[in-house]
Amino acid sequence: MLELPTALRDFAESLERDGVTLYAVGGSVRDALLGREVHDVDLASRLRPEEMLERAKANGVPARIVQQTLGTVLLTIDGTDYEHTTFRTESYGAGGVHRPDAVRFSDSPEVDAFRRDFSVNALYESVTDGTILDPTGGLADLENRVLRTTTKDPAVILRDDGLRILRLVRFAAALDFSIDPLTLEAAKANAALLDDVAWERRRQELDRILTGERVFYALSTLHDVGALPYLLPELVLCEGMEQRKDYHKYDVLTHLFHTCENTPEEPALRLAGLLHDVGKPEAYRRDGKLYAHDVYGAEIARTMLKRLRYPNALIERVCGVIRIHMFDLKDEASDATIRKRFAEFGRERTEDLIAIREADIRGSGYQTDYVAERWRKVLQDMINERVPFSEEALAVTGRDIMEELGIPAGERVGTIKRRLLLHCAVHPEENRREILLKRMHDCR
Ligand code: ATP
Ligand code: MG
Repeated sequence: MLELPTALRDFAESLERDGVTLYAVGGSVRDALLGREVHDVDLASRLRPEEMLERAKANGVPARIVQQTLGTVLLTIDGTDYEHTTFRTESYGAGGVHRPDAVRFSDSPEVDAFRRDFSVNALYESVTDGTILDPTGGLADLENRVLRTTTKDPAVILRDDGLRILRLVRFAAALDFSIDPLTLEAAKANAALLDDVAWERRRQELDRILTGERVFYALSTLHDVGALPYLLPELVLCEGMEQRKDYHKYDVLTHLFHTCENTPEEPALRLAGLLHDVGKPEAYRRDGKLYAHDVYGAEIARTMLKRLRYPNALIERVCGVIRIHMFDLKDEASDATIRKRFAEFGRERTEDLIAIREADIRGSGYQTDYVAERWRKVLQDMINERVPFSEEALAVTGRDIMEELGIPAGERVGTIKRRLLLHCAVHPEENRREILLKRMHDCR
């Protein structure tokens, strides 16, 4: 039984006395039955929005309507918000935009259940006594750990909202459930409906998938059902692209999926892992070689992320690390060279680079991540020794350089700053004004 605050149960009992049963529904009921952490509780009953407002008011529960057409009322109980929706049916026109043509309220949870996506998401638990209503066979599917649409014909559900295909994959990965074969088949047949879904909604689901459990499985399943062209079309070109067997066990696409799974659980890093080699097909097409794939990759990734409406700061971060991900791939650089490059990259980008390199190596199918270990140690030493990680952190300014050397503002000031930064990367103890003022004379 769900753990719910007494104030919510009291409210439900008062409704019950008037013959209205209040239910918790959806993810909370599902997760509680699975013994998973419950994060938010959605409520449903036959009360129309205005009726719910009245009852809430009579019981001293703050409430407001947030979505008139869908009948959503926000109730605040003990400082927590609960969304209450009136039982309803929805009907959709052609296409997968998820904008119901018509919404009709209903008195029955048995009707409401069939507008929901998956049977395990359509379980209703009475708030007063914990009784469970299961109109679509969700309990059996929960027991067998299967995701299945609420309706017998899965196409009916998947057709109405293309996003449900992404939700299917997300829940399968998050819950570690299998996908009912008919549901999977219908997802494949209807993947093109994702074209009608707003890019923002696609991005939201993608983010959840990327930051969730079993990312490799999720990405492979997205690929299987044919959803990738509607999320990250440029990735599809990486499929079947073979690579040198001494460095890679997998084709480029599989390698990218593995790399993504091996990055820390943060959207920017997951995306950088997933996209770091996306420039390989383009590099090969243009040059017949892969050398510049980091340059092409950063630009292609920028286009992809813009299309998904990611914020600029995230795009810069992801593309920035893709651009440098080839640095010393063969682990040949000396500590001094590594220090200089790290100082140029800056601390944050260097941390991203190390995370991506580690994931890249693991995602190749070979366990040689001592490179990342070495880098981590170099970076830690640099931090401990207070190496400046940007020109702003130097003990002299551009003005100091102009005055000391008697030169005007211009490119040379920049060149000298850069030289001093690289010098201090190896000799951090020399990041002192009087020392750098002398040293800059040798930078001419
Ligand atoms: P979680 O919050 O853990 O991601 P959830 O099941 O609570 O999972 P929500 O997106 O919070 O998912 O939606 C709550 C419920 O509303 C779902 O369980 C499902 O019954 C229904 N639902 C939400 N979005 C859709 C959709 N696009 N199509 C059909 N039903 C949906
Ligand atoms: Mg939820």
